[in-house]
Amino acid sequence: MKIRILGSHNIESKDTRYISLLIDDVLAIDAGALTSSLSQAEQQKLKAVLVTHQHYDHMRDVPALGMNFYVHDKTLDIYGAKAIYNVLTAHLLNDVVYPNYLNKPEQKPSLRFTEMEAGKAVTEAGYTVLTVPVTHAYPTTGYQVTAADGKKVVYSGDTGPSLADAWRQISPDLLIIEVTMLNKWREFALQTGHLTAELLQQELESFREIKGYLPQVVLVHMNPLDEKAIKNEVAAAAGALKTTIRFGREGMILRL
Ligand SMILES: [Zn+2]
Ligand SMILES: [Zn+2]
Repeated sequence: MKIRILGSHNIESKDTRYISLLIDDVLAIDAGALTSSLSQAEQQKLKAVLVTHQHYDHMRDVPALGMNFYVHDKTLDIYGAKAIYNVLTAHLLNDVVYPNYLNKPEQKPSLRFTEMEAGKAVTEAGYTVLTVPVTHAYPTTGYQVTAADGKKVVYSGDTGPSLADAWRQISPDLLIIEVTMLNKWREFALQTGHLTAELLQQELESFREIKGYLPQVVLVHMNPLDEKAIKNEVAAAAGALKTTIRFGREGMILRL
C-alpha cells in the first residue's frame, strides 16, 4: 500500500493544505486537498473518496470533484455518514451554491453517495473499509482500510480523546491520527474534539493496553502556526511512550 499525504494541516495557505490522503492513487480519504494537489489525469484515476465528517476542511473538494467528473462524463463514489450527505445537499450541492452532481446528469450522475454505517465493513476498489466512530464535535468516523495483502491503515479523522471503543475495533499497521494544538489548549481541545500531544500520549497508552502493541504513528491536522512547538511536545510524548511518532507533511509518501 502506498499512502500519499496530500494535505496535513488545519489551515490552508500557499505552504499548507487541508487534509487529504491518497491510497495507491485510487482511494482518497477526506477531500480537503484533492483538486488542488492532483492533476486532472490523477483525479480521473480516483475510484472513491471516503469522507470523515462534514467540516469544510475535510469535504470542501466534493463539489469541485463533481464538476471535474461531470466534464469527463464519469462517476465518482463518495462514502460517508448520512450527516455528510445532508450537509452536502443542503448547503453545497444545492443548485444554488453549486449544481447537485448527485443527480446530474440524470442518466449517470457525476457523484454517487453511499452512506456508511458505523462498525460495518464495505469493499471498494479491492479494499475493505471499516467505519469507526471517533470523538469529535459532529458525527465523525475514522476509517480502517485493509489492502488485499492484509496491510491496514487507519485514519482517525478529527478526534478528541476517549478512543478505547475505536481501538477495540481496529488493528492498524499504520495509524494516521490528528494532533491539532498545543498542550496549553487542552480545555479547548476537549471542548472542540481535538488532541494535544499529552492527550495523544494518553490515547496511545490506551491503545497499547488494549491491543498489546503500538502501530506506526503519523500525525496530521497540525496548526501550522504552532507546529514547531507541537513537534517538541510530541517528541516528549514519544519519549515517554518509548516509540517514534512522525509528522505528516504535504507530498509525503508512506509505504506498507
Ligand atoms: Zn472537524
Ligand atoms: Zn479538521
